[in-house]
Amino acid sequence: MPSEKSLTRMHNYVQKYWEKTGTVAHPDTEVTQSVINGLAAHMDELGRPLCPCNFYPDKKAEVERSREWVCACDEMKIYKYCHCLLFVTPEGMPITEYLPEDHEGRLMYGLVADPTPDRGREARNRAGEE
Ligand code: SF4
Repeated sequence: MPSEKSLTRMHNYVQKYWEKTGTVAHPDTEVTQSVINGLAAHMDELGRPLCPCNFYPDKKAEVERSREWVCACDEMKIYKYCHCLLFVTPEGMPITEYLPEDHEGRLMYGLVADPTPDRGREARNRAGEE
C-alpha cells in the first residue's frame, strides 16, 4: 500500500484538479480509488505522480526523460482527456471532444463533449505539437 502521506497528497491534488478543470469523479468510486492508489505508489517510488495506466519499460527513465506522463499528463492539459478515467464527466466518460479524430480515445468512446469548456486545457496552445 502507498504511504498515507502520498495518498493524502494525491487526494488533495485530484480534488483541486477536478475543480480547476470542471471534471468530476467517476461514479464508480473504486475506479477513482485505484487510480489514486497508483499515483500515490509512484509518488513513493519515484517522487513523481507518474500515470499508473501506462506500461513503462523503465519508470525512472520515463520520469527523467520528460513530464509527458506525470499527472496531469500532456493529454489532459492539452485535450482534457484522461484515459485512466480519473477526470471525467458526471456520466463517468472521458472527454474526447478535443482529441485528434484518429486518437484511440475517439475511436474507443466516440465523441464525448466537454460539459465545462471554459475550464481546464491549460496547455491547449500545444495541440498538434506533441
Ligand atoms: S491519464 Fe493523465 S490525467 Fe489521467 S491519471 Fe493518467 S496522468 Fe493523470
